[in-house]
Amino acid sequence: MPLPPDLLAILACPSPDHAPLELAGEELVCSCCASRFPIRDGIPVLLADDAVPGPNGLGVPAGTAQPLGIEPAT
Ligand SMILES: [Zn+2]
Repeated sequence: MPLPPDLLAILACPSPDHAPLELAGEELVCSCCASRFPIRDGIPVLLADDAVPGPNGLGVPAGTAQPLGIEPAT
């Protein structure tokens, strides 16, 4: 079940960066720290405990030199 675009637009990373999230397949990826959050039954789970932290940790910017590691949608 795809997320409504207007819902995606207001979602933010639960870490202190509060950055916008991007849809990447079946999960949401923080545009700042690159942490990943699952979508279960169409509901985004924006809990730090359930997140997969980014390369530098939850809330720590992933850095501009590193790609976010998002697989391009095919
Ligand atoms: Zn973040």
